[in-house]
Amino acid sequence: MNAAYHIATAATLLGGLTLPAAATDDCPREEVAEHVRQQYDLYGPLSDGREYFGFIYRLDGAIRSAVTRSGRCTRGNCLTDTAGAAALIPRGAKILGEWHSHPHDGSAALSAEDVRGAKNNAHIRCYSAYYSKPDGEILSWEPGSTSVPVAMASRVSIGHFELQAEKNLMADTDRDR
Ligand SMILES: [Zn+2]
Repeated sequence: MNAAYHIATAATLLGGLTLPAAATDDCPREEVAEHVRQQYDLYGPLSDGREYFGFIYRLDGAIRSAVTRSGRCTRGNCLTDTAGAAALIPRGAKILGEWHSHPHDGSAALSAEDVRGAKNNAHIRCYSAYYSKPDGEILSWEPGSTSVPVAMASRVSIGHFELQAEKNLMADTDRDR
């Protein structure tokens, strides 16, 4: 595809379009990754028959997530309406990316919907995308990816959460709703 690629010059020098812009920009990628790992410590164990999705944003110097969850998944397939998370992003916040979990009985691979959803927001500066496998591995992928194979090839592991940790949060989360 010949569409303009903001980081084309740098990426070409380094050998490919799948390289994240991390090396050449001033985006808070490490802070975001740390925040994402914390989100998975909370929501990863809860992704038992459900999937959680968050938009990552920064407001007043703090990085947070606006989180929603899917309905009950059917055989590992979940329908998540990200509009619910978008509606929770405070006015004036700088959006930095997204993360979502796959349920514990779900797929280890990105879906076409995952790739399309991140691609729709890839024009946002500093946008990064993360998902977790059913075994708790957390991976980033290049949100500008135009297909599932390209997105899968761009993945980088950033950590792991414990599937059974903090089970008691389930009760707290439900009580707040
Ligand atoms: Zn997914």
